[in-house]
Amino acid sequence: MKQYVLFQENVIHIENQDRFLSNEKTPVFWSHQLVERHAAAIYTRGIYLKFLTELVNSTAFKVIEIEKDKVYDLEKHIRYEKPEFTREMFRVHVDLSTGSFKCFCGKFERDGIVCCHILRLFTQFDITHIPDKLIVDRWTISFREKELDKCKKEMVLLTGEDQSHNAVRYSILMSKVGEACLDIS
Ligand SMILES: [Zn+2]
Repeated sequence: MKQYVLFQENVIHIENQDRFLSNEKTPVFWSHQLVERHAAAIYTRGIYLKFLTELVNSTAFKVIEIEKDKVYDLEKHIRYEKPEFTREMFRVHVDLSTGSFKCFCGKFERDGIVCCHILRLFTQFDITHIPDKLIVDRWTISFREKELDKCKKEMVLLTGEDQSHNAVRYSILMSKVGEACLDIS
């Protein structure tokens, strides 16, 4: 229980710090690519910095066309420090009409961050905005506001009563839950 509380405190602290930096600090751009501006506008600062690493690494790859607008191989033409994958070649399947990119490395499916191979193809196709399909809501600046909004609306819809009245009921309930948890722990 103690370990869990400590872990939870750490997560909240990291999130709050990230949120503070996202709102307070203006990012320093690494390139003149519009996709970087877009990433800075939508991602929290922590995720934006991870995106930036991928953008830098994307310049280490050259594009080999296998099937026009459908299949591409990305080949590493220069070695860089601490690569996430040791492999030299990555195949990416593309569907431009739906903004769908699927890379062999599977980073997006695992981390929710666009990998350097897909980013290299963005340059190839002059894509200036990250397609919706490749944006994970959880990593965006607006995520928490949207979630809070959703919760508020659900509370109102649930009972049909006045929202402020619900908020009071909610805080009383939460304090009771807190007391119960304290007793149990
Ligand atoms: Zn990849």
